[in-house]
Amino acid sequence: MIAMTPLEAWIARKARIGPGLAGRFFVEALKAYQLRRVNEIIDYARCNAPFYRRHLASLPDAPLSALSGIARIPFTTPSDLADDPSGFLAVRQDDVARIVTLRTSGSTGEAKRLFFTEGDLELTVDFFHHGMSSLVRPGQRVAVLLPAERPDSVGDLLVRGLRRMDVHALAYGPVTDPLHAARAVASYRAHCLVGIPTQVLAVARTRAGAAIGKGSIESVLLSTDYVPRAIAEALEEVWGCRVFNHYGMTEMGLGGGVECEALDGYHLREADLYFEVVDRQTGEACSDGALGEVVFTTLTRRGMPLVRYRTGDIARIIPQPCPCGSSLRRMERVRGRWDGAVRLGPECTLTLSDMDEALFRLTGLLDYRVTVSKGRDGRFRLHIDVHRAEGGSPTDLEVLHMLNEVDAIRKGIAGAILEIPSVRFSADGRWTTTGVSKRKIVTDPIDPLSFCLKSRTISTTIY
Ligand SMILES: [Zn+2]
Repeated sequence: MIAMTPLEAWIARKARIGPGLAGRFFVEALKAYQLRRVNEIIDYARCNAPFYRRHLASLPDAPLSALSGIARIPFTTPSDLADDPSGFLAVRQDDVARIVTLRTSGSTGEAKRLFFTEGDLELTVDFFHHGMSSLVRPGQRVAVLLPAERPDSVGDLLVRGLRRMDVHALAYGPVTDPLHAARAVASYRAHCLVGIPTQVLAVARTRAGAAIGKGSIESVLLSTDYVPRAIAEALEEVWGCRVFNHYGMTEMGLGGGVECEALDGYHLREADLYFEVVDRQTGEACSDGALGEVVFTTLTRRGMPLVRYRTGDIARIIPQPCPCGSSLRRMERVRGRWDGAVRLGPECTLTLSDMDEALFRLTGLLDYRVTVSKGRDGRFRLHIDVHRAEGGSPTDLEVLHMLNEVDAIRKGIAGAILEIPSVRFSADGRWTTTGVSKRKIVTDPIDPLSFCLKSRTISTTIY
């Protein structure tokens, strides 16, 4: 029996939807709430945030009469945010409780800065509190492998949310030494782990992590922009646990959505965020079921409202109802990012998610980095650095064999437009962790035109 997502009752309460409403009536009531909030936030942003005063200047004053009208409002892009962070600030500096600075990978010096008020942070704690009730019960223990040291960091907010449901938490922090983390998780006798996919995988693939065995860790929540299915399956196999996915980015107020016990797509935080999926090229709304770019509008944030913010994430709304019986929408697990793809040729696009699905099946592999460059002969070269678990496997032949399972790589090699000169291995224990940065294909473009789907590289950290 699959329990209904706890988010439904929580969202109904926040949106003041009567307890008797279900199905179509629930959906209509939620849409009415969202329309009201979208109109309020547009007004609020125009009155208080200098960026939106300019950006939405030509918008008529009349409120939207239907949610579909949101399509007339221009998008906000990550570049807008990087170019003028304080232009988004809608409260006095004194009212800002936390500023998160997101580094960029380039040397341009641009950084996205996000401002949160005390009230904004409370919204996140409240979401974590209710979202986590699918995974843990009062009295249980959670090891939090996310940054938690600083007050109001993501891990700290999560620990505060868990405390509200009488769940104990170990604020361990990001994993830099997987063996140390595995021992800490084992001695804490955690029922649940929350962390970043490759880092939790590294913990599971140490000897101490594997020795935890099945039946002790009941659930794992993986939090990042997207989770390779191969990693979720590997964790299920080692620990016999359920693996839930959380979708979030700092711009969303850290939390965006979380899976229910059906483990088949996120239910979204729809009282605080309005989500759209749009066609990447035209910007028009995608019908449910069609893949597009995730766009969201904050409905309740005061410090820094965001209107139609483009995430760059690729996903779709699942048209079928969720097996948990909820009337809430479900978004399929994010498939990666538009700026994470490299076009090798017509009909031949290499994505990190395709490589992940192949490579994380190798049991001795903890993580890898891939760089694609283009030689003067016009051919692409794929350089791969692999971080292996203790014990020394896999071999370079096994890595090459799995890479050959990736469509774009196989086609590229067959068409003589791609070569893989070598596979390099990092020495055991000497891997510099990527911290909490989003993973991506590193491009070393000689001819930038070869790289599509990417206007500017802004590598965001999620926390
Ligand atoms: Zn569900």
